[in-house]
Amino acid sequence: MLSGIVHNDSPDSLLYPAAKQNQYNANLKKVSFMKAMVLERLCDLNENPAPLVLKELPKPVPAEHEILLKISACGVCHTELDEIEGRTPPPLFPIVLGHPVTGRVEALGSRAGQFQVGDRVGVAWIFRSCGHCKFCLAGKENLCVGFAATGRDAHGGYAQYMTVSAEFAYAIPAEFSDIQAAPLLCAGAIGYRSLYLTGIANGQRLGLTGFGASAHLVLKMARYRFPDSEIYVFARSEKERAFALELGAVWADKTTQAAPHKLDAIIDTTPAWEPVVEALANLESGGRLVINAIRKEGDRGSLMKLDYPQHLWQEKEIKSVANITRQDVRDFLALAANMQLQPTLQVFELEQANEALLELKMGKIRGAKVLKIA
Ligand SMILES: [Zn+2]
Ligand SMILES: [Zn+2]
Repeated sequence: MLSGIVHNDSPDSLLYPAAKQNQYNANLKKVSFMKAMVLERLCDLNENPAPLVLKELPKPVPAEHEILLKISACGVCHTELDEIEGRTPPPLFPIVLGHPVTGRVEALGSRAGQFQVGDRVGVAWIFRSCGHCKFCLAGKENLCVGFAATGRDAHGGYAQYMTVSAEFAYAIPAEFSDIQAAPLLCAGAIGYRSLYLTGIANGQRLGLTGFGASAHLVLKMARYRFPDSEIYVFARSEKERAFALELGAVWADKTTQAAPHKLDAIIDTTPAWEPVVEALANLESGGRLVINAIRKEGDRGSLMKLDYPQHLWQEKEIKSVANITRQDVRDFLALAANMQLQPTLQVFELEQANEALLELKMGKIRGAKVLKIA
């Protein structure tokens, strides 16, 4: 069942039908509306470059454990392309996409005590976990069997309002504006998880293949956490490579290029397979490749190039990054505030969501794209 959707029904299901009808009518009068960019069906962006439609939807009402958020900003993420094109499809339509969200608490359910009206909060990719499966109990709620994602399994932030469980919202450090904080909640937090999953120590060499919203934040984080580590960047566009060097990478070249040294760990944020194979060739013995991508697209033929001695022998490891935990988000926000991590931003209006997504699809990336909503 979708949460985060409009809750028009009276919570008191024991009302008599007539009373219930009156209550319903009274509720109807109270419904106010909001603007949202809505996805109504899966589609191929090559055929339909404007998949999201501007709609008026009823403003959601928080359930007892939820907060109602007046949204200020929502990050635009490559994951939306995977949702729109069906690689990780929303289970129900229409759906409001968007997961790194910031805003102000406008109303509270009766049991959402953690926050107060007016508080500045953020929402991340993790919308809900069950709390009692073996993964949740082991602190791995990112792997929860009932994991629900913001903006895929529940309405997200491409809108003026959303509801979310208060337990899945985060106070935003004063160091960041609402617009700055939005991409931190996805690209930053998942980048943080990717970086610690590499297991590297200060002084070891780190590679980044793909240089979008997450990788540019990882580069900044890595320079702060591992000041003696050299960072090597593989990126398809000249602009991305120049940007990486500007931010302190010691070397940047094409994805298919061999780095001048073998690298102890590499983080892959590309949507393709070729960079995975190329990265494995660049790994040092015992090195680890961390793949931070929810799905890979086409180009499976590249996997035919996998050569055991060149790419996997010598105890090379591959690990994917799946989702994030709430603790990742909290730890990362604290680190980001400490190091005054500033994402490089490209700001769009809510109504320009399709343009922002299309630019992502075409690989026009410099830093993080954000929708400014209020
Ligand atoms: Zn994301
Ligand atoms: Zn669980």
